[in-house]
Amino acid sequence: METNEQRKKAVRAAIQEELEGFFVQVQELSEGDLEHLEEQVVKTSQQMGRRLLEGILDSRLREQRPVARRQGSCGHRQRLVGERPKELLTLVGPVRFVRPYYQCLSVPTAEKSCTHGEAPDDALWGVHERRTTRGVQREISYLCGRLTFEEAAESLCRHVPLGMSARQALSLMRPVGEALASAEDRQVKSLQMEAKQARNQRREERQSKQIERLYIELDGVLARMRRGSVPLEKEERQRKGDVYREIKAGAVFRAERGPKRSELVPGVYVDTPEPDSMRYVARRTAKGGFGWLLYQLALHGGLEQAQQVVVIGDGAPWIWNLAAEHFAGAVQIVDLYHAKEHVWEVAHAVFGRGTAAGTLWATQACSLLEQGHSEALVSAIEALPPIAPEPGQARSCPERAVDYFTTNAKPHALSALPRPRHAHRQWYR
Ligand SMILES: [Zn+2]
Repeated sequence: METNEQRKKAVRAAIQEELEGFFVQVQELSEGDLEHLEEQVVKTSQQMGRRLLEGILDSRLREQRPVARRQGSCGHRQRLVGERPKELLTLVGPVRFVRPYYQCLSVPTAEKSCTHGEAPDDALWGVHERRTTRGVQREISYLCGRLTFEEAAESLCRHVPLGMSARQALSLMRPVGEALASAEDRQVKSLQMEAKQARNQRREERQSKQIERLYIELDGVLARMRRGSVPLEKEERQRKGDVYREIKAGAVFRAERGPKRSELVPGVYVDTPEPDSMRYVARRTAKGGFGWLLYQLALHGGLEQAQQVVVIGDGAPWIWNLAAEHFAGAVQIVDLYHAKEHVWEVAHAVFGRGTAAGTLWATQACSLLEQGHSEALVSAIEALPPIAPEPGQARSCPERAVDYFTTNAKPHALSALPRPRHAHRQWYR
């Protein structure tokens, strides 16, 4: 990196100026005011950082003057039209500097002259058609992975002296999301190829089973989407506001028998997830390919090394279909929370929300569920006074609940739990 004497001198002078400014500010603070002193130190160091970056990036401090003519990236001869300013958003705040700017020379024979212009320095530093550094992009990506765009932009601006809006965060994330999605697609494609070629081979090459249990949990959720981020349905175009789309989400984690006994089943110990083994995947249902993504995540999580595989879901048919396709032989468990939701829906539909009779019935029905008496539960639902189906439904709420508990219940004694060869279902406890 070119740091000639002229450049060093200019940077030193700029830093010296900041330092003097710092002493002036500190003079005004009272003794013991650490809070404001710290604030001033942070501000000054960011300001010094900006001076350092500007000192290195500014082309006016270069020993050699920029060339007058060059070959442009479009292939044309270009001429220097001057040193033009650029603002870059960095981890120490906005940095302003100038760099040589070139424009294509008009070719007299051509029908239309090329209007292309470019700054070679932008390509050199990797900021061509960009206003943010990689550092800023990395930070905002990290935050956007955990927070909403609004929260991410706000969090970044608390630590970095930048003004960033949720919309800017979104447009910075777009290429990251696209790159991640295409990487996922490539992985899934190669996995599908591999599966086709080596289906039989894979079975024989089973590795040693060092993992006690691998859990795979999946669910569908309706996510609120920004208008314009997805193609709209006809009726959605006619009304205002955000739209909702189904997202399929999955989690994979390893677990082994923990020290805690089950409160519901004697002799059963509750599994403890292995720390840091939890991995997630989510994809909009309309995009397709969720099953393969989850399968890939499970492979990375140790699917082939697991003594037992457990699939946990809410009982929706797509979950069991996916499990049958990708995790044949896994123990299928309906989680208690989702199952209880169905019980409460019946109570609300038959007795009304918040009624004492409904609460009493649901509490007793849920305890049947907890004890694994799903046949008794089905009888309890069938014994309720019949109600009419809601508009647009062919079957009433209790009838659908009977379907749900009958389809999902294939009761097994818990002692029979380690039986990975056969697919069987039980209530999660
Ligand atoms: Zn050109």
